[in-house]
Amino acid sequence: MEDKKELRQWLDNMNLNHPLVIAGPCSAETEDQVLKIAHQLKDTDATVLRAGIWKPRTRPGNFEGVGALGLKWMQRAKDETGLLLTTEVANATHVDLALKHDIDILWVGARTTVSPFIVQEIAEALRGTDKPVLIKNPVNPDLSLWLGAVERFYKADINNLGVIHRGFSTYEKTRYRNNPEWQIPIDLQNRFPNLPLILDPSHIAGRRDIIFDLCQTALDLNYDGLMVETHFDPDNAWSDAAQQIKPEVLDKITVELKIREEESDEVEFRNKLATARTQIDVIDHQLIEILGKRMRISDAIGALKRDNNVAILQTKRWNEILGKMILQGEEQSLSEEFILRVFKAIHQESINHQEEVYKS
Ligand code: PEP
Ligand code: MN
Repeated sequence: MEDKKELRQWLDNMNLNHPLVIAGPCSAETEDQVLKIAHQLKDTDATVLRAGIWKPRTRPGNFEGVGALGLKWMQRAKDETGLLLTTEVANATHVDLALKHDIDILWVGARTTVSPFIVQEIAEALRGTDKPVLIKNPVNPDLSLWLGAVERFYKADINNLGVIHRGFSTYEKTRYRNNPEWQIPIDLQNRFPNLPLILDPSHIAGRRDIIFDLCQTALDLNYDGLMVETHFDPDNAWSDAAQQIKPEVLDKITVELKIREEESDEVEFRNKLATARTQIDVIDHQLIEILGKRMRISDAIGALKRDNNVAILQTKRWNEILGKMILQGEEQSLSEEFILRVFKAIHQESINHQEEVYKS
């Protein structure tokens, strides 16, 4: 706990609240839009205004940001509301312009974190400054790439760092736009316990209705802050319309979120317990998803066997699987008896599924 406070020093120095709330539109669209949102956020828990000025879009032809002009609108929003400013930088020129316009915190986007050359270019452009930088996770679920980006900034002597968890893209579409894979930021936090960890629920969700739940999970996992895309007219936003929420909704969310205190020993105990339980819930959820996925593959195998007139039960293959799983289980301190029970249950369910396929 002590350490964590020390390492969050730059947040405290900037007088940023805990949890830190960063809010604002996906993209700066017009001066009026930026100012209107900033004024609406002034009376919420948000202390930092976000807006994308240069937008990395997956496909060409979409709105790609207003460019440097938008930095002036942000400066005006800061003058009028006192909110601090943050924007995404994706090359050395962006860094230069953001520094010239006194942007308080820079963030590195998910598509940039995947590229060591660009991360290095940005880190070099910032060398010698004490600008806070938040590094989003890479688009793919690769902890090393994320850690590597953090290390590149530390090596360039940029020490006021934090990370943003915005989820990981998958080919298969799930309920999320980007899968949270909570285990990855948890592992990152274990490696760098002092690095402030911020959740971006908007890009994980891709929709409005699960933003609250994602934020609560993050706070239960001891995250240090939230970055939420916010717009006065979300449906008509020029980018990421489906996931933005109105400032008044953000306000309601932050009031309802349970923020865990760190006061007495007893509270610390309960916090630790709640954190561990949330981790268990996350893993249980993953277990169910992975079992479902296994079963769908098993269904496909059932159809293949049926079409080729092959028996469901393949004893040799099954014994091989069991042998391998028992050995792997040993490495994880799981008893042979437990592995046998779990895999027999999985196998039985597979057979039941394949029998259904044979009937169909
Ligand atoms: C954004 O924050 O609007 C953005 C482009 O995010 P990401 O890099 O996470 O896709
Ligand atoms: Mn966005």
